[in-house]
Amino acid sequence: MSSKKRDYYEVLGVSKDATLNDIKLAYRRLARKLHPDLNKTDPQAKEKFIELQEAYEVLSDPEKRQNYDRFGFSGVQVDMNDFFRGGIPGIDELLRSIFGGFSPFGGFDDFGFGGFGSRARRSTAPRREVGQDLEDRVEITFEEAMFGVKKDIPIERYTPCDDCEGTGAEDPSSIKSCPECQGTGRIRKMSQSGFGTIIRETECYTCDGTGRIIEKKCKTCGGRKVVPEVKTIHVSIPPGVEDGVHLKVQGAGHVPSINAIPGDLYLGIRITGDEKFIRRGNDLYTPADVDIVTATIGGTISVPTLDYKEQKLTEKELTIPPGTQPGTEFRIKNRGVTYMRGRGRGDQYVIVNIEIPKKISDKQKELLMKFKELNK
Ligand SMILES: [Zn+2]
Ligand SMILES: [Zn+2]
Repeated sequence: MSSKKRDYYEVLGVSKDATLNDIKLAYRRLARKLHPDLNKTDPQAKEKFIELQEAYEVLSDPEKRQNYDRFGFSGVQVDMNDFFRGGIPGIDELLRSIFGGFSPFGGFDDFGFGGFGSRARRSTAPRREVGQDLEDRVEITFEEAMFGVKKDIPIERYTPCDDCEGTGAEDPSSIKSCPECQGTGRIRKMSQSGFGTIIRETECYTCDGTGRIIEKKCKTCGGRKVVPEVKTIHVSIPPGVEDGVHLKVQGAGHVPSINAIPGDLYLGIRITGDEKFIRRGNDLYTPADVDIVTATIGGTISVPTLDYKEQKLTEKELTIPPGTQPGTEFRIKNRGVTYMRGRGRGDQYVIVNIEIPKKISDKQKELLMKFKELNK
């Protein structure tokens, strides 16, 4: 990692005007991706996670954030070594301590405030592992976005090894209690300081806090407990989805162990454009060319529209009244985009563009001159 400190907003991937909620959501998502327990393949996982935590500590605190906005890094002082002096807590524990959740000392506080207290760290609730989230992208057409579509998405994730039932051991007898921590998973370190003896408890390095070591590793997974898996998941993309959003597919992420809560899949939606339709919120705008004669004396034109009954793009006749001006908007009710929340749909607006002929014949010119004469 470069020695240059990255901007906190950049670290969290949020804009400078992000709300506190945006910041919390971004942090939660990234924490579940970068936490060293989950991001096992990246040697810099710890540094990356500490960088994330630091950014969050500053931007989630209104006063620190204001100082950072005004004075940059010199305006805020965050000591991450102090913050993580007991080691980095498990992801579940960490998120619970920040966002709330059930704890014997607290109670349920969903998405509430709260700094990183020692309260949750002392919690005796068994810690359930949480799988890492996955990210993927899918491209859909404008029509598919309007009517909704079911897609088969191949994902690559890791899942507990079948051969060792996720233990990582060749057979159950080769799982032994860790001699370093006597199977507790924690080790206590004593040190002397001017103020007396300090006892610190940390996760055991020999067994990674599991309390067990494996003498003979499973041949299939090499003791990693997990194996890669390619799986096809069926995703139902709802009508009205917007370009660039991430749909969360719960449980489609990595599965680190048998009892773990699987991670989620965040599916980025990319909609390939249709120039005939311009979307603004839940309304659709369609420019329509109308020739000067029809605009003047009235008539009908054909416009593209969405047929929700037949679930397809279609054309619709639209009456153009005499004397229609350029830029006139005609509303077709309920032919816009389906609301993702709640019932109903937006409307479609047809915007009139009057076509002035670029070339006309002598005969046409003659008639127009006559028209001009009569118009006086
Ligand atoms: Zn141990
Ligand atoms: Zn195995």
